[in-house]
Amino acid sequence: MKNICDWNNCFEIGEYKAPIEKDNSKNYRLLCLNHVKEFNKNWNYFSGMNDEQIYNFLKSDMTWHKPTQSFSSSDNFFKVLWNNALKDEFDHKDVKAFSILGVSVGLKWEKIQNKFKTLVKKFHPDMNSGNKKYEEKLKLITLAYTQLKNTYREKIDC
Ligand SMILES: [Zn+2]
Repeated sequence: MKNICDWNNCFEIGEYKAPIEKDNSKNYRLLCLNHVKEFNKNWNYFSGMNDEQIYNFLKSDMTWHKPTQSFSSSDNFFKVLWNNALKDEFDHKDVKAFSILGVSVGLKWEKIQNKFKTLVKKFHPDMNSGNKKYEEKLKLITLAYTQLKNTYREKIDC
C-alpha cells in the first residue's frame, strides 16, 4: 500500500507531508520528494499571517515535535519549511524582533537571552494577575525571541 504523490499528474510515491491549510490542523497531503521541494520553495508559509497566528503556529509546532524529532533532525519537514520562510523575510523579521525585545541590533546572544528572561518575568501573567494586555505582549516577545534564536544565534555563535 503506497500513497501516490498528490501533485497534479504525478505518479511518484508520496512520502512527504505538506500541510493543506494555514491553521493548526494536522491535515496534510502526501507528495514525492521533488514536489515537496517545489512546494517548500513556492510557499511562504507565514505570508498573510499576523503575529498571533505565527505565534500559535510556532507554539503548536514546538509542542507537536517531541525532543527526538526536534529541528536538529535533517529530514524534518518543518525545518525546511521554517528555513524557507526565514529566507524570504529574514532581515525584516530579525530587525522587527530586535525592536520588540527592545535590544539593539547586533547584541550578543547571551545579552539577548538575559533581556528575554527579564521581559518574561516582567510580563508573565502570574505577575500581572492575568492581564490580557501583558499576555499579548508576552506572546510577541516570545515570538521575537524564537525568531532570533532560530536565525541570529547561529550567525553570531559560529
Ligand atoms: Zn510528485
